[in-house]
Amino acid sequence: MTNRPLLVLGTRNRKKGLELADLFQPIGLEVRTLADFPGAIEVAETGDTFAANAALKAVQQARHLKRWVLGEDSGLMVDALGGAPGVLSARFAGPGATDEANNRLLLERLGPTPLESRSARYVCHMTLADAAGAVRAESEDYCRGRILFSPQGTHGFGYDPLFEVVEYRRTFGDLGPAVKAALSHRARAARKLIPSLLALIDADQWD
Ligand code: IMP
Repeated sequence: MTNRPLLVLGTRNRKKGLELADLFQPIGLEVRTLADFPGAIEVAETGDTFAANAALKAVQQARHLKRWVLGEDSGLMVDALGGAPGVLSARFAGPGATDEANNRLLLERLGPTPLESRSARYVCHMTLADAAGAVRAESEDYCRGRILFSPQGTHGFGYDPLFEVVEYRRTFGDLGPAVKAALSHRARAARKLIPSLLALIDADQWD
């Protein structure tokens, strides 16, 4: 154990957890995931916005674990699909769907839609709850791109092999972790949240 402030990442998605840990560890936090807390609860994502689900994940888990918890809810919004899959991104093809099944369904729904109409954005909402379950900070940001016709690359997770960062003309599947850590919705939301988080630590609010 160290005496660095401890932050629990309220996610069971391993790859998302690794991305979040890489974003928050450098500011001197001891970062853990739910895998380190066998008694962690399963939080039902019943909200219809990213903000509502991030708050559920942060507040309920923090109350249960009596620890500071970062709730993160994210997903893909495709303009030609009216913002779908949105908050249903993880379970687009059904409960417990694999990334491959979700990607297949996305391509099926878009069909022959031409490239110029395949614009999309990733959205990420982060909510920080203290050990009593009170919300202490939150942030939201996004990353724009477009959905290609077939998967490219093996990095990342979820929809990354289909999501092209237009300026780079490469998908997050091709680009790899260093570029994703600079440009992604998660990186941008983390950059917005970190000043509030450091202010709480400096003010000795973190117990
Ligand atoms: P959550 O864990 O309930 O927030 O669901 C997140 C889902 O959104 C993931 O399972 C992916 O389908 C999608 N998603 C969110 N962020 C990313 C990303 O960085 N790359 C690819 N897919 C993502």
